[in-house]
Amino acid sequence: MSEKFDVIVVGAGPAGNAAAYTLAKSGLNVLQLERGEYPGSKNVQGAILYANSLERIIPNFRETAPLERHIIEQRLWMMDEKSFIGTHYRSDEFNSEPYNRYTIIRARFDKWFSEKVQAADALVICEMTVKALLRNDSGRVIGVEVEREDGKIYADAVILADGVNSLVATNAGLRKDIQAGNVALAVKEMICAVHAPALRALNTFCADSPYPGHRHPVILRVEADCAARVSSLTGDNRLL
Ligand SMILES: Cc1cc2nc3c(=O)[nH]c(=O)nc-3n(C[C@H](O)[C@H](O)[C@H](O)COP(=O)(O)OP(=O)(O)OC[C@H]3O[C@@H](n4cnc5c(N)ncnc54)[C@H](O)[C@@H]3O)c2cc1C
Repeated sequence: MSEKFDVIVVGAGPAGNAAAYTLAKSGLNVLQLERGEYPGSKNVQGAILYANSLERIIPNFRETAPLERHIIEQRLWMMDEKSFIGTHYRSDEFNSEPYNRYTIIRARFDKWFSEKVQAADALVICEMTVKALLRNDSGRVIGVEVEREDGKIYADAVILADGVNSLVATNAGLRKDIQAGNVALAVKEMICAVHAPALRALNTFCADSPYPGHRHPVILRVEADCAARVSSLTGDNRLL
């Protein structure tokens, strides 16, 4: 790719999409590179979307964004290894439109956000991993190197939005290695139960839940598409 861009944005998570969208909207020639098959494909997480940030750049996002439910209560926990202290905050305002917090499925949300980026005329290329920054003789960043043959792409500016564990920034010496005390590692298991016997097996498995009377957390994390299919087969709307 010999063309030179105004800006290259690395990563198509919320930060990369917000940057690419804002820059493309202001008329810059933007290239966005994402290593995943599509934006959000590397992300299996559900999350809370805090509406005020998105509202600043896409004021009418509620009309098209894949929002799940609005949030009516916020909890804050401070924990040590053996105990926690917590607060709950509820307000009638949380339950009035326009709502200010929503649950989202990141795989869907990032995809939706990326469609906005592309509609704003940014060029988005997926399955393209950035290996390193390119610099000129004086050390100025002039582009990126991607995992392709002759994979040098040039730009006036590069925005690294490749996540908290940005290997590109670390390898370029732009920041120190992550310290274990500053991050947490979460491991999540996804189970896709598409027919009733599998669901029954899952429920049996959940009977051993360490939280008596509750469904095992893994059930709450069944992918929404999958949950819809299970629900249509079993009539169990609780899964949705
Ligand atoms: C378990 C968990 C729960 C969370 N819950 C919430 C929540 O409820 N609400 C909330 O607001 N925040 C939540 N967060 C935090 C939130 O996930 C992050 O703040 C957010 O994802 C950061 O966005 P980002 O765009 O900077 O990075 P990311 O979302 O990590 O996106 C980075 C993107 O860059 C791509 N990429 C990485 N390296 C390269 C490369 N070399 N080349 C090309 N592409 C690359 C990745 O594939 C990815 O798509 C949670 C985080 C975790 C771990």
